[in-house]
Amino acid sequence: MESLNEQVAVVTGASSGIGEATARKLAAAGMTVVLAARREERLKQLQQEIEEQEGRALVVPTDVTDREAAQRLVDQTLEEYGRLDVLVNNAGVMPLSFVDKVKLDEWEWMVDVNVKGVLFCTAAALPAMLEAGRGHLVNISSVAGRRVFPGGAVYCATKFAVRAFSEGLRRELAPKHGIRVTNVEPGAVTTELPETITDEDIQRTMEKMQAMTFLEPEDIAEAVHFAVVAPPRMDVAEVLVMPTDQGS
Ligand code: NDP
Repeated sequence: MESLNEQVAVVTGASSGIGEATARKLAAAGMTVVLAARREERLKQLQQEIEEQEGRALVVPTDVTDREAAQRLVDQTLEEYGRLDVLVNNAGVMPLSFVDKVKLDEWEWMVDVNVKGVLFCTAAALPAMLEAGRGHLVNISSVAGRRVFPGGAVYCATKFAVRAFSEGLRRELAPKHGIRVTNVEPGAVTTELPETITDEDIQRTMEKMQAMTFLEPEDIAEAVHFAVVAPPRMDVAEVLVMPTDQGS
């Protein structure tokens, strides 16, 4: 396998939480990282931090719900570096609500970011990977992509979709084209993710969860790193990482 120093990873949702920690981890491992999200200032801060540690990072402000923006993210990566080795589809939102509230705008928003965003970025990245005959797609699904909980009907549906898409991608692309696919399924992680919740009943439920010790974003970055540095013969297909305190 080529050394990590020659490889380029695009990370969506790199402006906070799991994406930020993953970009930092992959950059520290020697990869060039392309930082994508909407909050440009946060991406620039991370770029500066990575460069101060002798790493390489490019900022490409991107809204993954915009298919042209997803294409521009990949085009800019290829123009700058001539290659794209790893795509981490991490950008996501989680405005949980009970279905009887019928928060249709929030349902649509989750589908747009969590599902269509993954499709748009994958579609943009695939031609370069197919041409190279290698590549690695890392999709951040969730334990919510394995089981459904009250308040999470739509969020879980989006994460089930990511898991199904990952499985389909892997079965078609890995043996035929040498493109590895990893589906990562974190349990509860301390990040900004719950900030999008507007349903007060859910907010009260989340407050009760605070007694538990959550995972840190760096724990999931470790899991992504493990999959990325695995030898080419090895495709880490799925990684479920739970807080010790979280039973389900
Ligand atoms: P954060 O809220 O900290 O990070 C979410 C990231 O997604 C931000 O960088 C945000 O950047 C980005 N994002 C949101 N919307 C868009 C958009 N339209 N275009 C581009 N980027 C976007 O949460 P996490 O780090 O927790 O979430 C990362 C992933 O991990 C998500 O897919 C989430 O579902 C998943 N996950 C999280 C768990 C948890 O407990 N935290 C558990 C299981 C899975 P910006 O606002 O700047 O665009």
